[in-house]
Amino acid sequence: MEASLEDRLHSIHQRIDTAAKAANRSSQEIELVVVTKNHGYELALELLALGESQFGENKDQEASLKASQVAENLPAGQTAPTWHFVGQLQSNKVRSMLSYSSVLHSLDRSSLLKELGKQLAKTPEQSLDVFIELNLTDDPNRGGVELKDLMGFTEQVLAVPQLKLLGVMGVAGLNVEPAVDFARILKASQEVQTLSKTATFISAGMSGDFEEAIGFGATHLRIGTAITGKR
Ligand SMILES: *Cc1c(COP(=O)(O)O)cnc(C)c1O
Repeated sequence: MEASLEDRLHSIHQRIDTAAKAANRSSQEIELVVVTKNHGYELALELLALGESQFGENKDQEASLKASQVAENLPAGQTAPTWHFVGQLQSNKVRSMLSYSSVLHSLDRSSLLKELGKQLAKTPEQSLDVFIELNLTDDPNRGGVELKDLMGFTEQVLAVPQLKLLGVMGVAGLNVEPAVDFARILKASQEVQTLSKTATFISAGMSGDFEEAIGFGATHLRIGTAITGKR
């Protein structure tokens, strides 16, 4: 028999606890962001009922529709989820993303930073939590800030008062062992913290490698298919 959503979720939480213990960490300091992309809003509602509240999406069109459908269908007394945007974001989608998302994991280039500053300036009371996405490959055309540019880019981010820099984000294992990339993400995190003491968070680890990521200090796991099933 196929495992239910609840079973898969339970098993992921157990694996997070076990990996945290093995790394001498508390699982309290590790946030599970369930990546709900490619699934309808009904799945997000099921996850809410199961106690999850942090959801990740990677396409603006899908995310903005889903966020409004979830809001419209929210059972009485149920708190709305927090939406995390984790994918590459076109500059012309910034305004839309800001309307439903509280955390951007993929701040990956100066042009996006500039547009965020411009759109946020229109709503002075609004702020956005961000992670700087690292490019861990040798291909400069891939999304993410190259390590050699990280300090300069971090300073640019810190200069935008409406952005709260949480830390760094990476997708590991694109062309090396995930552990090699997780070690580089951790080192980048320590460098960023020399510029901002509060940027202590690390968004890393997906369905296939989250246990390893926990060993390298990941604080925000972005887990999709291992919980939601394939689509
Ligand atoms: C889809 C996605 C994930 C989740 O991937 P799974 O392998 O399904 O866990 C995490 N991060 C980003 C940026 C994604 O696009």
